[in-house]
Amino acid sequence: MNQVLLATRNAKKLGELRRILAAEGIEGLEVLGLADVEEFEEAPETGATFEENALIKAREAAAATGLPSIADDSGIVVDALNGMPGVLSARWSGRHGDDQANLDLVLAQLADVPDERRGAGFVCAAALVIPDGGEVVVHGDWGGTLTRKPRGANGFGYDPIFVPEGGTRTSAELDPAEKDAASHRGQALRELLPYLRELTA
Ligand code: IMP
Repeated sequence: MNQVLLATRNAKKLGELRRILAAEGIEGLEVLGLADVEEFEEAPETGATFEENALIKAREAAAATGLPSIADDSGIVVDALNGMPGVLSARWSGRHGDDQANLDLVLAQLADVPDERRGAGFVCAAALVIPDGGEVVVHGDWGGTLTRKPRGANGFGYDPIFVPEGGTRTSAELDPAEKDAASHRGQALRELLPYLRELTA
């Protein structure tokens, strides 16, 4: 079976791509994660934009493994913080990947910000790099507002404080399929489908 590497150790992101491929009826493409391939040195994420980071990670993974490789870079942009945390979302509190500390800090920073100025959006750039040289970068964004208290147990990161536009539940209160159908990453990954379909040929 043909393989594609999603350059992540995040099991939820892997599950999301597998569900999207299955929902679209794309068969014959095995999705591997970084835990499934021989370890290689990963450069720190130093890009100034989501696009740059996604491309750097996908190129690095494709060069190291010889596999068509997808990498995504995503984060939350908060209006009242002038678009931050942005590319720093995963390490906003100073500790990389500490989801609770990161969302606690954003809530504390927004403590005095009134409801009408609590707009925010999740943003995702996803890059697909094919070892023979082809590369593509796609985007998704998902607008909404921030709550004052975390709610919900699904998802990860800032999901418990993000209410997508047009709804009342946080993205941590959506079930995975509902989140995939609307989310920034779902949008970006679905844009990659025509290219992924070619890989099954
Ligand atoms: P990275 O794309 O893995 O570098 O991580 C981006 C960071 O942005 C994550 O650690 C989360 O804090 C946040 N983030 C990205 N996508 C989502 C999402 O779908 N829900 C909640 N938080 C997210």
